[in-house]
Amino acid sequence: MDKVDHEDTKAERTEEYWLKSLRKTVERVLPIPHYRERFGAIGITQAEDVQTLEDFQRLPLTTKEDLRKNYPFGLFAEPMDNIVRLHASSGTTGKPTVVGYTRQDILLWAKIVARGLERAGVTKKDIVQIAYGYGLFTGGMGLHYGCEELGAVVVPISGGNTARQLMLMRDFGTTVLACTPSYALFLAESLEESGIAREELKLKIGIFGAEPWTEGMREQIEARLGIKAFDIYGLSETMGPGVALECQAHQGLHIDEHFYPEILDPEGNPLPVGERGELVITSLDKEGFPALRYRTKDLTTLHYGMCPCGEVGWTMERVSARVDDMLIIRGVNVFPSQVEEAILSLGGFEPHYLLVVYRVGNLDQLEVQVEVNETSFFDEVRELEGRQERLKQRIEEILGISIRIRLVEPKSIPRSEGKAVRVIDKRQ
Ligand SMILES: [Zn+2]
Repeated sequence: MDKVDHEDTKAERTEEYWLKSLRKTVERVLPIPHYRERFGAIGITQAEDVQTLEDFQRLPLTTKEDLRKNYPFGLFAEPMDNIVRLHASSGTTGKPTVVGYTRQDILLWAKIVARGLERAGVTKKDIVQIAYGYGLFTGGMGLHYGCEELGAVVVPISGGNTARQLMLMRDFGTTVLACTPSYALFLAESLEESGIAREELKLKIGIFGAEPWTEGMREQIEARLGIKAFDIYGLSETMGPGVALECQAHQGLHIDEHFYPEILDPEGNPLPVGERGELVITSLDKEGFPALRYRTKDLTTLHYGMCPCGEVGWTMERVSARVDDMLIIRGVNVFPSQVEEAILSLGGFEPHYLLVVYRVGNLDQLEVQVEVNETSFFDEVRELEGRQERLKQRIEEILGISIRIRLVEPKSIPRSEGKAVRVIDKRQ
């Protein structure tokens, strides 16, 4: 880490500072049998045994599987008397992963989200429409408490009911929209058909997260809604939304100082700052469910230093992909976001697409379905074919495998009110 001279509040954190905070989390989780056993196996019996960051990086990683094995409350560090809230993330199979919050955790979370929103330019004068789902999912409640902490007006509308979203957006004078990027895109598309003119809306900022999205998608959303879009990051196992959020310099997402990030290679070994790999998060002040070296399965790159906005600390690049979203097609790793990048780099297509994987004999096939936009839909067949061929080449260049393209009519791919479905895998 390069030393940076700056005023105290924006000062470089020393290794000793991080260690002191990390030891607090080690101390909190040590009484939990799961951790005590695993730490004991490598000779760590007390927090003081972690003397360097290298010692810390020898501690076992925590995975979603560990949470499932200890379902529901086995990794909580506080008695249930001190827990005031539960959240859970749904898995595609088996039990959900459950996290618990103390009163103090809820307050801290609200402060963290409020601080992140401030970086994006949200103030107490704003009216924030929260179109993330409310419930066991952390998206809705996380933003909700953060906005209230900031003093902004909260519209807790939750996801769905798109016509009503747009009506209230106009009538209430909503200035900030928080939801998934795919729902923001759907809202933009619905606005064009709703009879409500963009000029009737006061919307200026979007806080979008909970699914990977590309720079191309950001440009689309910004242009269609006429707003500035900010990327928010977080998952329930590490706290919820707000672990990181972009500032107005758009040079990556500021990781809140209550978390310590690492990047690992696929075998779980630490990678140097600046290299792309899996993000691992340790919470430094969480009580109910402290996250210790939690494997997020999100791929990104870390940086440390001063952002153009003047703040010093960790930043992460936008999450380019999730390990869980990775498809293996004929032995090649394929991420839906790579296809999105290719589609949005060429004109004539809508940012709505679907990857369909199937098998012919023993051979995997990938078909990419993409919507053509209204204008090119009426183009000459020859022109459409040329467009299709260019897209096929672009995607094949990026993925390194041959694919099929199917152009589909505008608005024929199902829209999402939450996290978009990008893949249909018919191989199982
Ligand atoms: Zn910044």
